[in-house]
Amino acid sequence: MSSEASSILHDSNTPLLLFSDYHTHPQGHRVQRYTHELLQPWADSARRLGLKDIAFTDHDRYHAGIDFDEINRLRERNPDLRIRAGIELDNDPVHSPAGRKWIETNWDKLDFVLGSVHFLERADQMFDSVPDGAAQFEGRNIDEIYADYFRRLRELIATGLVDSLAHLDLIKIHGHRPTADIGTLVNETLEFIHASHLAIELSTAGWRKPVNELYPANSIIGLAMEKGIPFTTASDAHSHVQLGENFAKLAQKMSEFGIRRISVFEKHKRADVSLQL
Ligand SMILES: [Zn+2]
Ligand SMILES: [Zn+2]
Repeated sequence: MSSEASSILHDSNTPLLLFSDYHTHPQGHRVQRYTHELLQPWADSARRLGLKDIAFTDHDRYHAGIDFDEINRLRERNPDLRIRAGIELDNDPVHSPAGRKWIETNWDKLDFVLGSVHFLERADQMFDSVPDGAAQFEGRNIDEIYADYFRRLRELIATGLVDSLAHLDLIKIHGHRPTADIGTLVNETLEFIHASHLAIELSTAGWRKPVNELYPANSIIGLAMEKGIPFTTASDAHSHVQLGENFAKLAQKMSEFGIRRISVFEKHKRADVSLQL
């Protein structure tokens, strides 16, 4: 690894070396067919950062752009990297029913499925749009919105099509905090996650959003650890330049928590890898 890579992922205060990013969007926010030109920069960025294992997880509404043959060619050209074919299954009331069907059809070609709740009552706008989505919280009872969010998350888990849950407490994105204790709500959800043998991601994306906090919150990470729920690491990069964003900061946090293992997936089969010092 070059010294430049070490400085990004492994600063002097950081004892852990992160090696995987399992939340990336090569297509960004529109259908763009997978091509060599689209995908190779992601492999180049991964190598530059010292990442060894990355998963492409475009939103299910852009499934038409995903080309498994192109992913295979990328693997052949970059044999030093593990490149996983994945997707982010949303709860989009308009597009995700077709997305679910596509995932079922292509299940054996996919390594990894992320599950995400981006939609509340409005079918035409992700509540996590910044800043527009914040309007969905105006004049509303925040405790009810939190309860509704976690109910939708449990519905998504119940589809049985998910390997890991993305940005578990995304509902905090605009900085709205519940007034009620959400401990029971979170505990029930984590119990369901554990019983369903799913992982959850540690996502640095929260640090670039108004809430400016890791997804999920410290209290949720602690509870997930108590239950033995495994973790994936994620940047939610929408451009290859965002790959592994803030991973040194994440490594520092994981080290404080004592998280020493990270999950990777091949054809939905989980392997827990010990992080190197
Ligand atoms: Zn998402
Ligand atoms: Zn995403």
